[in-house]
Order: sequence, then C-alpha cells, then structure tokens
Amino acid sequence: MKQLLDFLLGLIRGLLGMPSQSEPSSTPSRAEDVPCDLGMHEVPESVDTSAVPFVGMAAASAAAPAAAPDVVSASAQAADCTVTVRPELGTVNVRTGPRIGFFPAGKARGGAVFSLSGASEPDETGFRWFQVAFEGGSGWIRSDLVLLSESCKQLSYITDADYPDSPTIPTPPATTRFPRPTTALLSNGYSSTRHPGIDLATAMGTPIAASAPGTVIRAIRCVNCTEERPNRFPCGPTTYSDEKWGYGYGNFVVVRHDYAVLPDPMREAMDDANLTGGFAYVLYAHFQELRVDLGETVQAGTLLGRTGNHGCSTGPHIHIEIRIGNVEIVDGQWLAQKAVNPVRFYVL
Ligand SMILES: [Zn+2]
Ligand SMILES: [Zn+2]
Repeated sequence: MKQLLDFLLGLIRGLLGMPSQSEPSSTPSRAEDVPCDLGMHEVPESVDTSAVPFVGMAAASAAAPAAAPDVVSASAQAADCTVTVRPELGTVNVRTGPRIGFFPAGKARGGAVFSLSGASEPDETGFRWFQVAFEGGSGWIRSDLVLLSESCKQLSYITDADYPDSPTIPTPPATTRFPRPTTALLSNGYSSTRHPGIDLATAMGTPIAASAPGTVIRAIRCVNCTEERPNRFPCGPTTYSDEKWGYGYGNFVVVRHDYAVLPDPMREAMDDANLTGGFAYVLYAHFQELRVDLGETVQAGTLLGRTGNHGCSTGPHIHIEIRIGNVEIVDGQWLAQKAVNPVRFYVL
C-alpha cells in the first residue's frame, strides 16, 4: 500500500510538473496551487489511475481528463433551442469541458442566453453538462445552472429529466445558495472517497468570511506549522491523527449553522436525508491565520481568517467541507456527520 501510494504520488507530481520530495522547491508553477493532500490515504488498493484526483486538472487546459463523462452529441442543434443561465444566479463559469475540473473558458451572468450544441452524460456528481456556443467557440455549463427552452425537446439527447419541476426559484441569490467566500477558482472538486471537500486556489492571505450566521465549534491552531515550514506533503495517517498538524488541515475552523439560516438547496438535501431541522457544519482549512475562537458566534460576513498553505498542502488555497446531521455538536466530533458536495450550495 505504501509503495502504491508513493508510486501514485510520484505519478501525480510528474504529471503536474512538481518537484519530488528530495529536490528543493523551484519556481512555483500554476499547478502547485491545485493539490490538496487530504484524503489521499483513502485511495483504494485497486486503483484506476485515471480516477486519481488532480490528473484531470493537470490535463484540463490541453485535453479531456480521462474520467470526463461521454459526450452524447457534440453537433446536433435544434432551431430556437436556447440555454439560459438561471436568472437568480450571479455569475457562473463556462468551462472548456464537461466537468468541474476543466478550466473556465469564461464567465456568464444570470439571464445570459446561448444556443445549445451538445450535452454530456452525467458526471460523477450526477449533473449533465450542456455545450453552448461561446465567444466564437464553445463552452460547457453544468445543467443545474441553466434552463432549456421548450424547443430543445426536439433533440434526441434531451429528455424530460432535463426540465426540473420548478425550474425557477424566485428568491434572492443570498437565500438560494451561499455566497462564495472568495472569487478564487475552484481548483479541486469533491470526492466522497478521496477528497471530501472543495479547494479554491486563493492568493496567500485572502480574507475568508462566514457564509451565514453560526457558532464556531472547532478552532484549531497548527502548532507544528512554522513560517519556514508551514506544511508537509505528502501526508499519511500519522499526520491525519496529529492535532499539532491540525489533523492535516493546518489552522482550521468549523462553523455550525442552524437549518433555518441555510440556503434552500441545502435544506432540501437535509430533508432528503431525513435531517429536517438539523445542522450544517462547514469546515474551512489551511489558514495562515485564524481570527475566531471556539464558541464564538459569527454572522454572515464575519472574518474567519486569512488563507495560507498550512497543514497538508502544497500551495495557498482554502479547503471547504460541509457535513449535515441532526446532532447539535458544540465542540469537535463533527466528522461523524454526513459529508455532502459543497459545490451544490455555493454560487459558482
Ligand atoms: Zn487542502
Ligand atoms: Zn482540499
């Protein structure tokens, strides 16, 4: 297992053009903003290397990641078939491929209209992606962020499932989704087995605020993190169980939010999981500096800390995990709650 992990990490480092552990760090590359080591110890014994995290990211700018969903149709068009970015959303990413790991080709505002030119099979989070004509070329937008016009039903690859029951939620953005804590790019997506959160590749020292009112139930400072050596990579079980490394999260906080203050999609996810009236626990990790303490009450917009490269990390980023449950935790033990994919609850 150890050899396999070392081999995989070597492979990933090679693909990302990162220095190996024995070499001194050279000039930081863009790719170094990406990796997040958390959860790597959970890679199964029989591993398909095409599914290893970060490989898709490395390939994203040039070619399709190996694990990208199949494209159903890349050219079929129907007259008047349009894709409208949901008006209640702010700005969404139009990506270079049908998966969150592809770099954005650009951005589109809520209400923007495009013509549809193709669609993908559902990705690993269950969403299809629609291909649209974009800035003289094409781009991909995730299906839950857009509405299709009626005439798209003429296309063989569009079904009733592409028209959700209540397509437009006439409520302001702040209550439909959490505002993004930073405008930084999503650099690493969620995987229930390998990476139970998302990474946003921020600049060092970016202020991060709470998304909603809540209570701080964990505020751990990484006592092993020093200015010269704030992190270690790769990490193993020893680090994940060591509070002095913040369990790999470096300096981190966990905020508990009541059901009543959560965005609608999160409450729906909780209803579906039989957790109506429960709590959401949002973890923010790898801070350079924490600005809150255990037990503190926060509001939406309260500064939690400034981003760093602390703990199991190879570049400045914020790692966010969301867990839901019906137990009101006041200190620690939030990990036993059910992890969910954070991208569903933020304005992307
Ligand atoms: Zn991370
Ligand atoms: Zn992460």
